[in-house]
Amino acid sequence: MHGDDGSGETTATLDDDLRVTGCERCPALVESRSRIVNGVGPTDAGLVFLGEAPGQNEDEQGEPFVGRSGDVLDEALQAAGLVRSDVRITNCVRCRPPDNRDPTTAELSNCRGYLAAELDRVDPELLVTLGKVPSQHVLDRDVAITAEAGSVVDARIGESSRRVLLSVHPAATLYDRSQREGFFESIAEAARIAGIGIADDTEADADGGSNGGPSGGGNGGGQSRLGEF
Ligand code: URA
Repeated sequence: MHGDDGSGETTATLDDDLRVTGCERCPALVESRSRIVNGVGPTDAGLVFLGEAPGQNEDEQGEPFVGRSGDVLDEALQAAGLVRSDVRITNCVRCRPPDNRDPTTAELSNCRGYLAAELDRVDPELLVTLGKVPSQHVLDRDVAITAEAGSVVDARIGESSRRVLLSVHPAATLYDRSQREGFFESIAEAARIAGIGIADDTEADADGGSNGGPSGGGNGGGQSRLGEF
């Protein structure tokens, strides 16, 4: 699918629908995936959301963010006057890591060229990184995501410098209910920056039901296991 320049950043190729097919760069992921989960949404979307890697639901259904995290993202999009089909949603790594572990540095690097090519082709107004892993991957530095969520920065990916809004991962709102309002505000701000949706501040006010989701985040061995959500 692509030449091998070490990073894959300049040589990765996608088909006309921005899909990767048949990649076998990461042996552990080839073993653990049932399919490659490509980005979905318009190929000229103004707003692109970037997650970490597919989890079990995504691996089964072949679409990013279709589990509980996806439900939260859909709710926040709706509150901002958007639906899923208005935006593009993709991941740093396109294959499900075993046991929902975080993708390794090598796996992130192997897949980076596909992300760069996808962003070059879509050329969105704004990229929203959902969580610590995609934020660090795009910015190439440590990110304290809870503290930095909501900030807008520039980052070079592929051939262009892109505007990037940092956000917590939607799963963070499931294990820490207090993150929900900030997450909804970030999505509303993203819609405003991209100039789409209605981005009504009152709707972005995330009220709450009572089920806060799993307590404590369920982290194991420094892994956030977001694929479980
Ligand atoms: N979490 C992610 O980061 N990506 C998905 O596609 C699903 C959950």
